[in-house]
Amino acid sequence: HMNLCFHIVSGRVRVAVRLRPRNSEELEADSDFSDCVELQPELKRLKLQKNNWDSDTYEFDEVLTEFASQKRVYEVVAKPVVESVLDGYNGTVMAYGQTGTGKTYTLGRLGEEDAADRGIMVRAMEDILAEISSDTDSVCVSYSQLYMETIQDLLDPANDNISIMEDPKTGDVSLPGATVVEIRDQQSFVGLLQLGEAHRFAANTKLNTESSRSHAILMVHVKRSVKGKDSAPSSENGRMSSMLKTLKPPIVRRGKLVVVDLAGSERIDKSGSEGHTLEEAKSINLSLSALGKCINALAENSAHIPVRDSKLTRLLRDSFGGTARTSLVVTIGPSPRHRGETTSTIMFGQRFP
Ligand code: ADP
Ligand code: MG
Repeated sequence: HMNLCFHIVSGRVRVAVRLRPRNSEELEADSDFSDCVELQPELKRLKLQKNNWDSDTYEFDEVLTEFASQKRVYEVVAKPVVESVLDGYNGTVMAYGQTGTGKTYTLGRLGEEDAADRGIMVRAMEDILAEISSDTDSVCVSYSQLYMETIQDLLDPANDNISIMEDPKTGDVSLPGATVVEIRDQQSFVGLLQLGEAHRFAANTKLNTESSRSHAILMVHVKRSVKGKDSAPSSENGRMSSMLKTLKPPIVRRGKLVVVDLAGSERIDKSGSEGHTLEEAKSINLSLSALGKCINALAENSAHIPVRDSKLTRLLRDSFGGTARTSLVVTIGPSPRHRGETTSTIMFGQRFP
């Protein structure tokens, strides 16, 4: 018998895996067991127990252990995407994993008590604000959730059926009905995230669902005026070239960063015994499997990316392919009790050789 080694998609989508440390419950309950995964970060590999005597090996673009700091996770998963957004491209950072494995910790942590805890959203905004200088630049944010193929505004709960607009010429995707707030400083951004989170909680209580069943979507529009790069030869006539420089019109760069805290990857019980309706189960499975298909199509360099199948993928359409950068962090827990879910979570990012 040969152990299989699966290769993670790469190229147009970068996929990292992050292992959450054992929580107190797991430390107690599983103290006699070994974890179901073994990470080999320097080889960018993860070994997952298949049964008591066998394991499979999976290869990722990046393997982040339970000791990886939030700073390192940001640098590996999001920083290159943020930099390309500042250069005027679209970029997406998504977290995918079973509920309780650290998606929100990775993306949404505010780090109010300990700045070292700050997650990707807050760190991304810090990097963006640091590059925003003149009055002509702007950073605008919308925050929404997608639940059962309906988009709700997390900044204005009354606004509960937002439609997606796609520009037929440019292919740009926008949410014309969503509240857009201009961000000038980090505090107001953190306040906005808190407001969104409170509304998300309230909306889900009203719908009698859990936040793990919806996708939270933060969109950050960055507009920057960049001075035209000096292309005139400067050697012989420095003064002339600096005059030319000041005469050059500024270049406006528009980039969009989308951060998606995806619904829990766990398979939903279609029997309804856990309070899920069949419709809910179908719709969540639909959007996540549609996303999986798009990611695989990207990985295979396929000319056709099947974005039409769900609102989630329609929303992300201008983030797939072209000059856009997409980064996916797959979050997992160490417990052998969740081995089945962990296996199917990991397979989401895998391309079959
Ligand atoms: P999810 O959003 O995937 O459901 P959470 O982000 O809410 O999961 O994480 C579940 C719990 O585990 C939270 O209490 C969170 O603080 C904790 N946690 C997650 N990832 C880490 C980590 N890397 N280090 C420490 N605690 C973590
Ligand atoms: Mg969460």
